[in-house]
Amino acid sequence: MILPERIIHKRKVLVVEDQEINRDILGGILEDSYEVLYAGNGLEAIEAIQANLDDLSAILLDLIMPVMDGFEVLGRIRVDAKMSRIPVIVLTAEKEAELQALQLGAADFITKPYDAHEVILARVARIIELSEGRRLIGATEFDPLTGLYSRGFFFEYAEQIQRFYPEWKMDAVVLNIDRFHSVNDLNGREFGDKLLILIGEEVRLFLANTNGIASRMEADQFFIYCQQQSDYHVILSRLQNRMNLLSHRVSLRLRMGVCPWIKGIGLEQLFDRAKTACNMVRGSFRRHLMVYDESIHQKEMYYQRLINDLHHGIKNHQFKVFYQPKYNIQVNPPRLSSAEALIRWNHPDLGMISPGEFIPLFERDGLIHVVDAYVWEETARQIAQWRQRLGVTLPVSVNLSRADVFDPMLENNLISLIHSNGLHPRDLKLEVTESAYTDDAEQLISVISRLRERGFQIEMDDFGSGYSSLNMISSLPIDVLKMDMKFIQNIEQNNKDFRLIELILDIAKYLNVPVVAEGVETQAQLDLLRNAECDLVQGYYFSRPLPPEEFEALIVKDLELGKELAQ
Ligand code: C2E
Ligand code: CA
Ligand code: CA
Repeated sequence: MILPERIIHKRKVLVVEDQEINRDILGGILEDSYEVLYAGNGLEAIEAIQANLDDLSAILLDLIMPVMDGFEVLGRIRVDAKMSRIPVIVLTAEKEAELQALQLGAADFITKPYDAHEVILARVARIIELSEGRRLIGATEFDPLTGLYSRGFFFEYAEQIQRFYPEWKMDAVVLNIDRFHSVNDLNGREFGDKLLILIGEEVRLFLANTNGIASRMEADQFFIYCQQQSDYHVILSRLQNRMNLLSHRVSLRLRMGVCPWIKGIGLEQLFDRAKTACNMVRGSFRRHLMVYDESIHQKEMYYQRLINDLHHGIKNHQFKVFYQPKYNIQVNPPRLSSAEALIRWNHPDLGMISPGEFIPLFERDGLIHVVDAYVWEETARQIAQWRQRLGVTLPVSVNLSRADVFDPMLENNLISLIHSNGLHPRDLKLEVTESAYTDDAEQLISVISRLRERGFQIEMDDFGSGYSSLNMISSLPIDVLKMDMKFIQNIEQNNKDFRLIELILDIAKYLNVPVVAEGVETQAQLDLLRNAECDLVQGYYFSRPLPPEEFEALIVKDLELGKELAQ
């Protein structure tokens, strides 16, 4: 086995012998080359093995002992997955016992009276090398494309480095290509492969100088385990420059996450953190390198806290649904037309948390359905309550996350909610963000179409922020367009944004659907939108999102206005 030199290290071996004189002899032979532990019988041996499971390299085992003999120890080791990884060399004077010991899984034997010192040392060394080699070989596989280590081999190897050199400062580095899938789709697999090979080459050059190892984990994700570097920008820009040479046509961006060595931290956690850091610069135009640090750690802990507290929070009514009105501005004075339900989390220790913080987090972790189901239920109940108390049905829209749309129970759940509150599907409108339409559009369109057939109305949220093509928009099943807030925010100063708004209004006219302008804060914005024939407006100009008790006053006010106008 070609074990890299630095892996050779003072290994731990256990000598199990009941006779002190024999223990001394073996100890004398081994102690220069090994850290030697001793046990006087089988029971002590099992205890010592258990206590040193991770880094015990070999066991030298006498067969005839009081309390528990060597055969029983061998039997116990053999049936234990962890213990059986450690090779056993049997110490025996009886020829007959050898065969039995080998059958019980011993790796080798040393005969008493003891062989020459060199023979014993050579046997122990060979057995250790064989067993470590076998573990590595068992996992050996090089990635055929880049020649870097396979995943299994990489981790086995990194583990050995960590086990035998716990004081070495080894950092975890994760390397990724931004939007590799589209690079592959647009330029062909062959180009993608060339790119990966090139990165593999450059990574290997880097390893040579840093005592590192590397692997390609999946498609375009590389893991590197190397001695601490003072500045990772150096390697990143070298890689980036090599990639730039590959093609002038294709714009390629690498990103890198680093988790610096922390004493005693497990490999999995180290690489998880490097991955987190790497994901933080995904798609960013300015930053391509992130080093995991305390502030990221704090943020992760905060997120973890939110995730842990979610269920308890829902059960204890810490979540509150707020309502923000949408006004029809094509009549004078403007009239209340509907509302949007927006969730808030009033956390007992962390205070009011805005959905911008926890929604993306729960979407990422697959928990969003918990929040959304709660909001839909609350909203349906609230619409029914207002109708009962005030005699009007005010439609309210709720937000659907991408994951909701792919829940096979979605349609049933919504329908039963509508029925149990005595509502009509048109009373509970559904907002789906534009970006949800861009991936896997077909499935989404079929779900949305079915919901529309059942009578629900679909509002396309944040329109203009995504990348839907004009071609696609015309075939989308939608009832309302909600223009992304960013267009409104600049219209006063920026003529170009106003042109975009006009363009969106034209598209809506072509699709024959009304437009909601979100984020309207000023009279000037309102006037511009009214003149451009925008139908509905939602924003601080009219009202912030309000708790239901306060929102009720807006309904009452609008009812009175209606009565006045009728006179
Ligand atoms: P969104 O669906 O685009 O909601 C509009 C956001 O704009 C809300 O932020 C609202 O408070 C804010 N807003 C309204 N008018 C104005 C204005 O005049 N100026 C400014 N600067 N902002 C205004 P909020 O409530 O913080 O919600 C943020 C996002 O969180 C929402 O964006 C939505 O994507 C998500 N969200 C909120 N509630 C839920 C929910 O129950 N389920 C899901 N899946 N997502 C939700
Ligand atoms: Ca929305
Ligand atoms: Ca929106």
